[in-house]
Amino acid sequence: MAAYDPNNIFAKILRGEVPCFKIYEDDRAFAFLDIMPRAPGHTLVIPKAPARNFLDVPPDDLAHVIKVAQKIAQVSMKVFSADGITLQQFNEAAGGQVVFHLHFHIIPRHDGVAMKPPASIKEDMAVLADQAAKLAAALKA
Ligand code: AMP
Repeated sequence: MAAYDPNNIFAKILRGEVPCFKIYEDDRAFAFLDIMPRAPGHTLVIPKAPARNFLDVPPDDLAHVIKVAQKIAQVSMKVFSADGITLQQFNEAAGGQVVFHLHFHIIPRHDGVAMKPPASIKEDMAVLADQAAKLAAALKA
């Protein structure tokens, strides 16, 4: 497996070099909206420490990220009045990974509504800002 590349887009987001719609941050995890959501509220949760994917992440970092992902999934159910959540995580190009910093997708789902194809439509920035504000507020409540 290739080494971690510190110039991947999520590393740049973590360093504040690229903007994002942040919804949560603590000392070890960071969460923000996917700009090409497969459904409204599509969130990405990542460890702050470098990890290419599930295969190389230190187990303690993984455990913390999963705890944060669960909390965001629970809150997303309420904020988006969702009927369910799809959790996705891809490893290496053959596994569907495009950005090589470990991330979990949390995708709110509604009965009978299919997900959009991956990376298909860039969401309106005002919509993302509104959703991020609602999620961040609900996570603090
Ligand atoms: P994957 O590596 O296949 O799990 O998917 C990477 C995800 O990152 C896709 O869902 C993209 O829409 C998303 N993405 C790529 N660039 C950005 C960005 N700058 N901000 C937020 N999401 C992004």
